[in-house]
Amino acid sequence: EPPQGPPPRKPLDAAASLLDRGLRRRLASDLRGALGRSELTLHYQPRIRLADGAQVGAEALLRWRHAKRGDVAPAAFIPVAEGSDLIVALGAWVLRTAAAAAAARPALGRLSVNVSARQILTGALPGQVEAALAETGLPPERLELELTETLALPEGPEVVGLLRGLRDRGIGLALDDFGAGHASLGRLRRLPFSTLKFDHSLIAGLAEAGPDLAILRALRDLGRALGLRLVAEGVEQAAQRDLLAGLGVDEAQGFLFGVPAELEPCPAAPLAPATEGTTTGDA
Ligand code: C2E
Ligand code: MG
Ligand code: MG
Ligand code: MG
Repeated sequence: EPPQGPPPRKPLDAAASLLDRGLRRRLASDLRGALGRSELTLHYQPRIRLADGAQVGAEALLRWRHAKRGDVAPAAFIPVAEGSDLIVALGAWVLRTAAAAAAARPALGRLSVNVSARQILTGALPGQVEAALAETGLPPERLELELTETLALPEGPEVVGLLRGLRDRGIGLALDDFGAGHASLGRLRRLPFSTLKFDHSLIAGLAEAGPDLAILRALRDLGRALGLRLVAEGVEQAAQRDLLAGLGVDEAQGFLFGVPAELEPCPAAPLAPATEGTTTGDA
């Protein structure tokens, strides 16, 4: 039996499933205007290659600074947006904005963008992607779309065909948060992934000779057999990084390498001399 009485007030960083209905409705309506009020921004978290520590990519992560409530965590507002077509409009904005930022910064590497089920189920995603690529000139090989393992997504022929079409364009497709839920082998088999992202819950307890290392070794073999790029998320400690490198995992993301943050302004364009003190004037 569920407990009786009014639900306790939850902070806005709690999962949105815990938010009461009234608050959800208010957030949804605030979120509708948030883009126009410039309350939404993207942060970017570096992804590095474990073999040499070089940055090879970055994941775009949505941030909402609510005028009255302050920062609202994605775990609270993304599910609210996913409750309606709002997520489709937000997703288009994220793709366009992130693609523009990445196109202006070749050194950023491959850009990863999280996508929601509704972007796929409405059929909007391919058009959103093509518009973002066309507008920004970002090469399709520099874009990777992330689908979380727990995404409620039927895997019928339309969905498979839509994702296959994106892959055929050279766009990457990552299974995000793998191992957070059921480590869904069915999804891995049915959808045309190029990348497997090990959830931070698999990395958190990683230790020499521990059970998590054995599990990760087996998942690595699985991913390798399927020809997938292997990425670890939530890497916070050097010891975890070393174990992952030893396993031959390709890439990693986590606070150890960099927190999600705003990008540095673009390097000066060729027309603007970058060296300070270099005066113009002599032709
Ligand atoms: P995700 O795609 O799995 O993103 C990784 C999350 O882990 C991010 O949380 C990031 O800030 C956090 N993180 C990164 N490194 C570490 C670490 O070393 N330790 C720990 N404990 N956490 C780390 P964030 O930014 O709160 O985003 C949460 C989720 O919200 C994302 O999980 C993603 O599923 C969703 N999300 C974020 N932006 C978007 C978006 O633009 N569109 C959609 N559809 N979903 C988004
Ligand atoms: Mg992600
Ligand atoms: Mg993840
Ligand atoms: Mg996640």
